[in-house]
Amino acid sequence: MSAYDVIVIGGGVIGTSCAYHLVKKGYKVALIERGDIASGTSSHCDAAAMITDKMPGPDAALGYASIQKFIRLSKELDYDFNFDQAGSLYVCETDQEVEVATGYVNDLRAEGYRVKMVDPYEMSQIEPLLAKDLKGGFWSDECAGLNPFKLCYAFVEQVKGKGLDVFLHTKVTGIRLNEKNQVEGVDTDRGRFTTGRVINCGGVYAPEIGRLNGLNIPILPRKGVILLSEATIPVCHQKVQEFGYMVTKFANVECDRDPELLKYNVAFTLEPTEGDNVMLGSSRNFVGYSLNTEIEVINAIAKRGMRFFPILKNMSCVRAYAGVRPFMEDHLPIMSEVDEMPGYYICAGHEGDGISMSPVSGELMTQLIAGEETELDMEPFRFSRLENRFL
Ligand SMILES: Cc1cc2nc3c(=O)[nH]c(=O)nc-3n(C[C@H](O)[C@H](O)[C@H](O)COP(=O)(O)OP(=O)(O)OC[C@H]3O[C@@H](n4cnc5c(N)ncnc54)[C@H](O)[C@@H]3O)c2cc1C
Repeated sequence: MSAYDVIVIGGGVIGTSCAYHLVKKGYKVALIERGDIASGTSSHCDAAAMITDKMPGPDAALGYASIQKFIRLSKELDYDFNFDQAGSLYVCETDQEVEVATGYVNDLRAEGYRVKMVDPYEMSQIEPLLAKDLKGGFWSDECAGLNPFKLCYAFVEQVKGKGLDVFLHTKVTGIRLNEKNQVEGVDTDRGRFTTGRVINCGGVYAPEIGRLNGLNIPILPRKGVILLSEATIPVCHQKVQEFGYMVTKFANVECDRDPELLKYNVAFTLEPTEGDNVMLGSSRNFVGYSLNTEIEVINAIAKRGMRFFPILKNMSCVRAYAGVRPFMEDHLPIMSEVDEMPGYYICAGHEGDGISMSPVSGELMTQLIAGEETELDMEPFRFSRLENRFL
């Protein structure tokens, strides 16, 4: 039976970041993943690390802290994950959107983030192929793109065999507690492990892992569909998205939307890839764990894309895929020890921001486990902020 200081459950971007940061701190760590590295949501997503898709407050603070860490990680990790701080552009279709966006931008600016409103002329300078009838938008040079799949491998490869043991195709089936409710081990379908600390990084499956110990972790799968184009001439230079994206993501951002868009909760997003394709998104729906890509949703996304970038009419879609975001109703992840179960930690529920927030999440969890002062106030992320935490 192998013994570890910490066992991380889940080899997505959150689990691999936790594992990397813990090993760097000197802990002996096992990463247990029931599939392969990045076989869950972390390979069924977009590739942006942004501030301008977060709410002012703790949400944006996580996004900003992570981008600073990505800048460092892009030099520190041997494995290239295509980090590119190219900025991001939001576009507004109506005067009402410009008005609501101006308030949002002012709130972010008040917290010190570099973001500014831009007029249609400035937008056309940033993105010449953008539709010409838009009303305005905003720009931030803080935002970045990266390859999430490579990022997971970059975290793992850097420390594998140097303090990290990786167990793939190994499913966690139980977390053993002693008579004081303290963690003492992990059971899997391939054997037992001894440890005093476990982190549940199961993403949308964190609730399933939680149920093994009677925990009620209120994360819901929120599906999103993305279309991938054939290789193309450069269409956009960095992430471009409509302000309506914020309406689809947050219940408290209110702007009128075409009922047709509300049907599948579709909002336009576009990103270039290092393979010269574009990724066109996306949708947000609560439809369980299914990864089907329905033709109606594909059509709605394609139509929305062509509205903002008419050149997309000339391109073929070579692939559509879906992923499920680990959604929390208050839009903040859980990054916390379970007070009633010493040694049981949860780091999950990052919804559409897990890639973006992965470095800071791994570092904060390491600080928590080491009993150090944390870089950010952890109060908003505590499990105990939630009601009905036990089944
Ligand atoms: C369409 C779409 C677009 C997105 N775009 C972005 C974006 O641009 N920027 C951004 O920051 N985020 C984005 N996201 C969100 C991001 O992808 C997620 O927040 C992130 O991938 C969650 O990572 P995770 O490690 O928590 O979960 P996952 O990647 O799902 O990892 C959890 C892992 O746990 C494993 N597991 C589960 N149960 C067990 C068990 N019992 N034993 C062992 N292993 C287990 C699973 O196999 C899985 O590999 C997007 C998501 C979607 C769907």
